[in-house]
Amino acid sequence: MNRFVGFDQVRALLVSHVDNAGISRVKALPHGRLLSASTYGVTNSNSVGFLFSVDDHLNATPALDPIVGDLRGIADLSAVAMLDADSGLAWAPADLYALDGSPHPTCTRSALRRVIDDADDSRLGFTVGFELECTVFRDEPMTTSGAPTPATTGPAYSTRSLLEVESFALAAVDALEFAGVTVQQFHPEFGTGQLEFAFAPQDPLRAVDELVLARVVLTRVARAHGLLISFAPVPIIGGASNGCHVHLSAAREGRRNVFAEPAATHGVSEEGGRIIAGILDRLEEGVALLGGSVLSFTRLRPHSWAGADLCWGPANREAAIRYVPGQAGMGAEQANLEVKPVDGAANPYLAVAAILASAFDGVAREAVPPKPVTVDPSTLTAAQRRGRGIRSLPADLGSALDRLEASQFFRGVFGDVLLDAYLATRRHEWEAYGERPPEEVAELVRWRY
Ligand code: GLU
Ligand code: MG
Repeated sequence: MNRFVGFDQVRALLVSHVDNAGISRVKALPHGRLLSASTYGVTNSNSVGFLFSVDDHLNATPALDPIVGDLRGIADLSAVAMLDADSGLAWAPADLYALDGSPHPTCTRSALRRVIDDADDSRLGFTVGFELECTVFRDEPMTTSGAPTPATTGPAYSTRSLLEVESFALAAVDALEFAGVTVQQFHPEFGTGQLEFAFAPQDPLRAVDELVLARVVLTRVARAHGLLISFAPVPIIGGASNGCHVHLSAAREGRRNVFAEPAATHGVSEEGGRIIAGILDRLEEGVALLGGSVLSFTRLRPHSWAGADLCWGPANREAAIRYVPGQAGMGAEQANLEVKPVDGAANPYLAVAAILASAFDGVAREAVPPKPVTVDPSTLTAAQRRGRGIRSLPADLGSALDRLEASQFFRGVFGDVLLDAYLATRRHEWEAYGERPPEEVAELVRWRY
């Protein structure tokens, strides 16, 4: 993955997994234990593995007890990355295993691998690239309103904003590259203190591993620059939201980009259309897997470019799926889909697994997409929206979880044990915080992701 050359450089290895609350949990191995990273691994309880909510509340499901039960986090050393040579700190993603040596049914990284490996259609290959948005704050006492101070003052997307955090941004890109994460572009986003880092497309598992790694790297570099960073969907209520859009490319037989068919309307091949239809058809029942915090649904509102409307369209930033056609003559290399409702509170392994499972299903069912929407869908009348099949995604976490709980499709993809553990962790969040003022929820989770 990066310039990792050997264990002799490593003082400690962070063996981490992302849990059902979307939080990266960790156990570290000191130098003397490194050889056991991929055999014995690290020990975890069920709670740390997959039953904690965002506030560290312990949940239980009929199949899983938070108190009794052990598992191991086994490091995947094919994805190990050195974080920095001076400190000797390295990172590796873990798969969760039961003590009998079988992959634990709740392991979300294994679930993503399974969705790809089990696809009947092995000649259809996907790659994934993330656009990671974050908000950077000064590490200073809070303002009287109780909110931290954003590290940039605007204007949106301005050179001025970037220069305000120039040393952080440049150090972040260097550190990401050192860790093996290829940055394609970075820029100040719409909101004050908001930045975006876009990463090169990779095979899906590697793309998610690198996203998780990138968040570790960005958090470290921010701290080293006296800044605090948040990947929460809405770090300040009333301010801009943070997305974590998933760009999806698909090629048949490893060569033909199914989203670049010059002869087809809008350039989307029949197969590309099936993928779009497959994702759209499952988005209402699956959206709780793409975010899953109370604030994910504060984010999913019209005019935040978060894709709150169930439709697709070329270059349409208000559609749940923005079709990116690419420049003239470059479609074959560039054309892709951007799935916008994903945010930083998601477990990204589950989010990508849900999108890919829906896409494969659309192809298998020969699903037919609705017509593309080429205007802001919120400007259409209710009758026009109905006529074109445009609906709003669920308005809150509670209704999104109801849809997920009833989904036979996602139950089939993830199995009862994993899905019920996911529902329990997120249901707690909805029950405990769904009725609280959003400002309080933002304060609670701002530094958790
Ligand atoms: N910040 C927006 C979101 O929450 C996305 C803005 C953009 O299109 O880059 O998804
Ligand atoms: Mg953006």
